[in-house]
Amino acid sequence: MKIGIVGLGLMGGSLAMDFRTQGHWILGVSRQPSTCDAALAQGIAHDASPEFQVLAEAEIVFLCTPLGNMVKTAQSLIPYLHPQAILTDIGSVKAPIVEALTPLWPNFIGGHPMAGKAEQGLLAAQHDLFVDRPYVLTPGENTPSSVLETVTGLVQQLRSQLYCCQPQEHDQAVAWISHLPVMVSAGLIGAGQSETNTDILKLAQSLSSSGFRDTSRVGGGNPELGRMMAEYNRTAVLQSLYAYRQQLAQITQWIEQEQWTDLEAFFVNTQSARNRYSL
Ligand code: NAP
Repeated sequence: MKIGIVGLGLMGGSLAMDFRTQGHWILGVSRQPSTCDAALAQGIAHDASPEFQVLAEAEIVFLCTPLGNMVKTAQSLIPYLHPQAILTDIGSVKAPIVEALTPLWPNFIGGHPMAGKAEQGLLAAQHDLFVDRPYVLTPGENTPSSVLETVTGLVQQLRSQLYCCQPQEHDQAVAWISHLPVMVSAGLIGAGQSETNTDILKLAQSLSSSGFRDTSRVGGGNPELGRMMAEYNRTAVLQSLYAYRQQLAQITQWIEQEQWTDLEAFFVNTQSARNRYSL
């Protein structure tokens, strides 16, 4: 297929690499000419340009820009699309994107590949990023079955695990397992940085190891992505943060009141609950 990728960064570049390996023809669009040149030089795209004209023959276009300019980018791109072309996005939040883009293009379907890295940009792109990772599609009642079939086929070529759900269900679910962890992880780093004794802070930074590495990873990632999660998924993120605050208050109270049995029983529950998440 002729596959268009708009936004040649970590995600768009990684998709382009895998689709090219599968034998597809890759047409890239990115804001900066230097990104397009790099995509061509690295063999990630067959053709690449900051101009949407390059997508005129694309059979499907993946919108891979930051969430904040996705709708605007789609509006600018649509006049250049072939009338039968499929449009899909990979944004981490679905409801606002799907609500805005569904009326604009009949062959639109929302999507979210649930894989990533702390780094951003084309240089961070890598092969097989999506293997065995969930890829969520959010077909609406008017999504043509041919659109769902085509995108499903491409998701299978990435060797991702396909899930279909409503955009709102997706947003609430990812608030718990993706967006809340980013807020909590960033809060954890911020709490450590509040240590006022610089000798102790330096010692903590030197002693930090696997526990801190695992729990701080998502909070130390792409700042723009973290902001977009909160801004675009505000209601669900707030709901999950309120629930988390309640858990923290309970844990704090058990420790203040030295209720060690209650605290341990809580950890017994969380230890077994963690096994029910696909990790
Ligand atoms: P990224 O590495 O920063 O890549 C985005 C790229 O889009 C940039 O390299 C930029 O390239 C280009 N761009 C920005 N504005 C553009 C525009 N108006 N038109 C064309 N290109 C534009 O970000 P990312 O991590 O790949 O995230 C991209 C999308 O994937 C986001 O919507 C995010 O929600 C979603 N997502 C991210 C992850 C993750 O873990 N990172 C996971 C799942 C989904 P230039 O250098 O040319 O400006």
